[in-house]
Amino acid sequence: MERPLIISGPCSAESKEQVVETAKQLSKRGVHILRAGIWKPRTRPNKFEGKGSVALEWLVSAREATGLPIATEVANAQHVEACLNAGVDVMWIGARTTVSPFAVQEIADALKGTNVPVFVKNPMHADLSLWLGAIERVKNTVDGPVWAIHRGFSQYGQMEYRNAPMWEIAIGLKMAMPDLPIICDPSHIAGKRSLIQPIAQKAMDLGMDGLMVETHPNPEQALSDAKQQLTPSAFGQLLEELTIRDATAPTISSADLSALRLQMDSIDEQVIDLLHARMDLARQIGRYKWENGMTILQMERWKEVFDTREGWAIKAGLSPEFILNFLEQLHKESIRVQNKEMTSK
Ligand code: PEP
Ligand code: MN
Repeated sequence: MERPLIISGPCSAESKEQVVETAKQLSKRGVHILRAGIWKPRTRPNKFEGKGSVALEWLVSAREATGLPIATEVANAQHVEACLNAGVDVMWIGARTTVSPFAVQEIADALKGTNVPVFVKNPMHADLSLWLGAIERVKNTVDGPVWAIHRGFSQYGQMEYRNAPMWEIAIGLKMAMPDLPIICDPSHIAGKRSLIQPIAQKAMDLGMDGLMVETHPNPEQALSDAKQQLTPSAFGQLLEELTIRDATAPTISSADLSALRLQMDSIDEQVIDLLHARMDLARQIGRYKWENGMTILQMERWKEVFDTREGWAIKAGLSPEFILNFLEQLHKESIRVQNKEMTSK
C-alpha cells in the first residue's frame, strides 16, 4: 500500500462541470481517489442536501476523464444500491451514521457479498467503542477492505477546531486494531482553511495512513463547507509541503511511553482550548458588568465558585488544595482580562 493514501474532492457534488474539473486538477497532483458527497446529512433543515442519485453520473464521468476511482458517502441501503448500480469504487460511512448501529448494520448488509472498500468515519461524539463497534459490524459482514477515517469529535461552544481532534481516540483505535489503516480528515476537524496544513502534518507525524481533504474549484462559492475547502492547487501545495516520516515506527502499545505522551499532549491541548473558552466568557461577563455599572469582583459569587469547585475536586479524587490554587490563578487572570475589557471602553 502506498502511504499516504490521498482522497480528495468536493464536500458535495454540485454539477458535472465542478466534479469533472476538480477531478482533472486533482489527478495531476498525486491524488489517489476522488471523493464527493451526494446525499448530504445536514445538521439543520432547509440547507443544501446534496444533488442525489443524478450526481452519481457526474462521478462516473470524472472517473472516465481521469481514471481516478470514485468514492461517496452512503447512509442507508438505498444509497448503497444506487452506488453499486453506478459502479462506485469506494464508499464511506459518515460521522452522523456511525453513531447508529442499526444504520451501520443496514449498510453492511447491503454490501454483503461485494468487495467494495468501506471507510468508517468516527462517530460525531467522542466514543471509541461506538467507532470500534461500527468497524466490527462492517468487517463481520463485508468482504472488502475496511479503513477508518478520523474526522474529529463535535463539541459544544465556539472552539478553535470545528471538531476536536482528540488524537488519543484515534490512537486508542490503533491500539485496539493495530492492522486497521486509519486516515485523517483534517478538513472536518479544522472547519477553516488555515488549520488544515498543521492538522494534516500532525496526522502524518502520528503515522496515519492517509488523508481525506475537501477541495473545490471555487471554495467561497461552495454549497456546503465553504470555509474549509481548498482549491486543488492549494491542496497540491499542501501535499508538497508535507513531511512524511517513516511509518514503520514501532507499533503503539498501551505500555508505550510515547503513546502515553501523545495522549497527554492531546488532553493538554483540550485543556487549553477550554481555558480559552472560559476566558471568552470572562470577557463577556466583564462587558456585562461594565454596561450595568457593577464592580468586577463580586465576593459572594467568588465564594460560591470556590465552594462548588472544592466539592467537584473531592468527588473527582483530586486534591482540593491543588484545584483551589489553580482556580486562584485562573481567577486572577479572569480579573485581568475583565479589567482590560472595561478599560478598553
Ligand atoms: C463529508 O465528508 O462531507 C461529511 C459530511 O463528513 P462527516 O461525516 O465527517 O461530517
Ligand atoms: Mn463536508
